[in-house]
Amino acid sequence: MSSAGPPEISSQLLCKLHRIHQQRSDLEGQARRCPMQIKVVEASVDAAQAELDEELAVLKKTRMLSDEKHLQLQTREAHVLDLNRRLNEAASNKEFALLKEQIAADEQANSVQNDEIFEILERIDSIESHLKETRAKLAEAEAERDQRIAEIQERQKKIAMDLERVDVQLEEAETLIPVAIRADYKRLISARGDEALAPVEDDSCGGCYQTLTTQVVSLVMLSKLTYCPNCNAMLYLPEDRRV
Ligand SMILES: [Zn+2]
Repeated sequence: MSSAGPPEISSQLLCKLHRIHQQRSDLEGQARRCPMQIKVVEASVDAAQAELDEELAVLKKTRMLSDEKHLQLQTREAHVLDLNRRLNEAASNKEFALLKEQIAADEQANSVQNDEIFEILERIDSIESHLKETRAKLAEAEAERDQRIAEIQERQKKIAMDLERVDVQLEEAETLIPVAIRADYKRLISARGDEALAPVEDDSCGGCYQTLTTQVVSLVMLSKLTYCPNCNAMLYLPEDRRV
């Protein structure tokens, strides 16, 4: 065997390194998703809170309208009392008739106003009963959020522990990489993560599915460091193809 040929590395080691890197990226992916999952559960609480705030604002506005209408009613009722007093002191039939007309108009307006106030009070009742539902929905969303966040935090702890364990395995496995290959391996891994390695599957690269020549596959079988001509991954034979 020529010493100028590619350095040797066993498929077994490359396969092991690949598996560890895949576990690492899977765990890192899970870790990255946790804060997003927390945001989603927090968003549903925010939505329920916004709905409650909006209903409270409508309630406040409706109550103000009711107060305003009541005040108008009271003012006009006081006016009617005043007109009635002046009726007794009317100096002429003409003045009497005019006052009568004004009183009738005010009383008519008050009757309309009373109906309006009644409607507004009914509206307030319905807003208040719906508010109970909205408050219950918010409480439910908050309870769900607290539970989900506790679950996610539990998972984050487990992921961190798994990552530590995987990192120890990786460090151990990497000590077995021949010195001549280490720099290339490090460079490829830091650029492409677990895609830096690929199994030979049905004479194709398991990373990019490019068909490999017999020559390339033979080199892999001889445990020679071989890169996929297409995606440049370090190739290895999966367990079932090793002799
Ligand atoms: Zn490839």
